Amino acid sequence: MPKGDHGSYLRIDVEEGGATEVPIPQEVRDALVGGVGLGTWICLREGGADHDPLSPRAPLVFAFSPLVGTPLTTSAKFAVVSRSPLTGFLNDAISSSHFAIEGKRTGYDALVLVGRAPALSRVVVEEERVEVRAAPELAGRAASECGMAGFRTSAIGPAGERLVRYATLSNDGRHAGRGGAGAVMGAKNVKALSVRGSRRVELFDPRGVVAAARDLSSRSFGPATAKYRELGTIANVLAFNRLNVLPTRNFRDGSFEGAPEISAEALHAMDRIGRESCAACTIGCEHIFRAPGGAAVRLEYETLFALGPLLGIADRGEVLEAAALCDRLGLDTISAGGTLAFAMEAGVGDLRFGGGVRPALEAIAARQGPFDLLAEGSRRASQVLGRPELAMHVKGMEIPGYDPRTLHAMALGFAVGTRGADHNRSGAYELDFSAEGFDVGRVVEIEDRTAAMDSLILCKFLRGVFPDFAREGAELLRLVTGRDIDLMAAGRRVCDLRKRFNVKAGWRREEDGLPERLLGGGLSRARLDAMICAYYRARKWNDAGLPGEEDACGT
Ligand code: SF4
Repeated sequence: MPKGDHGSYLRIDVEEGGATEVPIPQEVRDALVGGVGLGTWICLREGGADHDPLSPRAPLVFAFSPLVGTPLTTSAKFAVVSRSPLTGFLNDAISSSHFAIEGKRTGYDALVLVGRAPALSRVVVEEERVEVRAAPELAGRAASECGMAGFRTSAIGPAGERLVRYATLSNDGRHAGRGGAGAVMGAKNVKALSVRGSRRVELFDPRGVVAAARDLSSRSFGPATAKYRELGTIANVLAFNRLNVLPTRNFRDGSFEGAPEISAEALHAMDRIGRESCAACTIGCEHIFRAPGGAAVRLEYETLFALGPLLGIADRGEVLEAAALCDRLGLDTISAGGTLAFAMEAGVGDLRFGGGVRPALEAIAARQGPFDLLAEGSRRASQVLGRPELAMHVKGMEIPGYDPRTLHAMALGFAVGTRGADHNRSGAYELDFSAEGFDVGRVVEIEDRTAAMDSLILCKFLRGVFPDFAREGAELLRLVTGRDIDLMAAGRRVCDLRKRFNVKAGWRREEDGLPERLLGGGLSRARLDAMICAYYRARKWNDAGLPGEEDACGT
């Protein structure tokens, strides 16, 4: 019996109702660890790069990891992997909490959905029992209203049912947010996946794991995580504004005159009602605020930026209400904000910077009238309207809240990101905000480290707690699995594998870049192109950005 994982995944055909257990070779688990790495391998193996993401044959992978279910802080996470309906390339989104723990207890390292159910359905997995049951009563409901007593559920909202290309999947109040995983599940006519089980994995060194968990928990209370505990990820709004890196009004500006109104300080003084954590987390970065209508809203920096400055909105109440609405409808807030910012500048309907957006969000989720086009995301909408220069995206994914005109390491991370503009897979902004400054080797190293953390999986907010993540992370993995694994090499393999997926899905060199608006001044097109070439060389890819012959795990 392997330690730390089960050694197989369950492939569920929601059309036929059958399920097949598929072994995962030991060398794959050693090479890619779990989480995003394992999920990408399974997605490739199941033909994910070969099918339209909204076709029945496209796989949707829920991948767990060796650390899930252990007492190690922040380890209750899972990856959702598929081809993205927004970008057409690989999408790996991470979510947290009880669904991860219960999902792994079903006895599999991943659950894979394929096919299209004949009617809107709930898929129930309880160890060897798999059921696809019609669930018409769930139609139109928020994900939070799709729970099932005794089970943990990941579900889509109305936007996922209507195949909005940036629809989310949600569980336990958390979201696999970016890239449209919710639309992939909606295309399968699956509203909810409910899991339960009692199959715990054996640990290689149970006492060692408990001791390491105790040590890591006590270190997680230290200064490296104080910002997240005290103010949350919204802590930096005023600092970003001063540094001119707070994208404003569709990236026309890098600072926002209304920043003080929507700052962490203002929100905490006026609207904060509490703090929460994911399951098995000792940090608790989730700060909860009260919207004017009474809803309790979990607010992250990216949501605040995308529904505030990016849209020219300085009204805290409007931002909180819009955030609550995105959660209820099941919309990714960054892509919703980026698409609305495009629409405001392009003059779609009566949208204008600084105006309210809630009716537009409702109409997008329902695909009503002109908002049907906005449900396609900013890239497709801008092409149809003949205004591609106004869409701020990379590979079709709307750009997060870090202005690449000033943050050049982040600019490179966005430009080459395999799932499009993405601060969570690159993390290169940490160079821009440090004394180190831009260094292409470090951009690659941070991306590899991030891929390793997302494969273990541990929360990235722990990164400052590890003086030497490669060594300490590998030791945690050894205590759980008994295997000595070079985590940075695994992270590099995961990045290579993502690129191979994209090449198979039709990636071309011109996909790596930034919108024209974000070039100029200190970041010219020539400079960005030189940075991209240096990145390819540092990854040992050729000048066209293609990985060599050597393949990770024979995919
Ligand atoms: S630090 Fe925040 S995101 Fe990370 S596991 Fe804890 S509560 Fe969840």
